[in-house]
Amino acid sequence: MNKIELEKIKEHALKEHIPIIMDDTLEVVNKILKEIRPKRILEIGTAVGYSSICFTEFLCENGVIDTIEREEERVLEAKANIKNTGVEEKVNIYLGDAVEILPTLNNKYDVIFIDAAKGKYPFFLEQAIRLINCKGVIIADNVLYKGYVMSDYNKHKQRTAVRNLREFLKEIQENPDFETEILEVGDGLSISKKRY
Ligand code: SAH
Ligand code: MG
Repeated sequence: MNKIELEKIKEHALKEHIPIIMDDTLEVVNKILKEIRPKRILEIGTAVGYSSICFTEFLCENGVIDTIEREEERVLEAKANIKNTGVEEKVNIYLGDAVEILPTLNNKYDVIFIDAAKGKYPFFLEQAIRLINCKGVIIADNVLYKGYVMSDYNKHKQRTAVRNLREFLKEIQENPDFETEILEVGDGLSISKKRY
């Protein structure tokens, strides 16, 4: 993978205020991926492909990433970025709303990374649970949402997102099939390992 190109993508995204995974969050995810060496990763929320490109480094041989993005303009940019970094064999982008695409998927994944509309996290979780492999890991970014999720602050205009993130965390923490930890890195990261 072309790291110089990757650095350019990161700088461009930061300049244009395109959301990309934060450095400390990426470090934690990379460590998990290094242990698992996944064959198949599913990402919900591609943006311009930055995290997908980063994750390709830790796939096992012939491993692939499927990633979903609903904004066409971002998909076009992601495709160009994926080509420029030389990982087009490893990343497959679905253009469309994950709410519609996820129910059509049937192959299992070793790692699922949820990083899209916060209001949809309970639905994404339901689908991720359906699509995760034995011993797989579901990782979700932005679960603490600037601290709103753990505070009693609920008059915010983003209260629907906050309510749904709280529901997501409750569901996953109470699910006996998963061992979950929530880390305060970046905007909050949940890591849920399937026990069997
Ligand atoms: N994972 C990326 C960042 C993703 S930002 C990275 O770290 O590089 C979140 C992206 O999810 C945005 O581009 C947004 O357009 C997309 N998104 C939000 N809700 C979505 C949905 N329901 N279906 C598909 N994409 C969605
Ligand atoms: Mg994010």
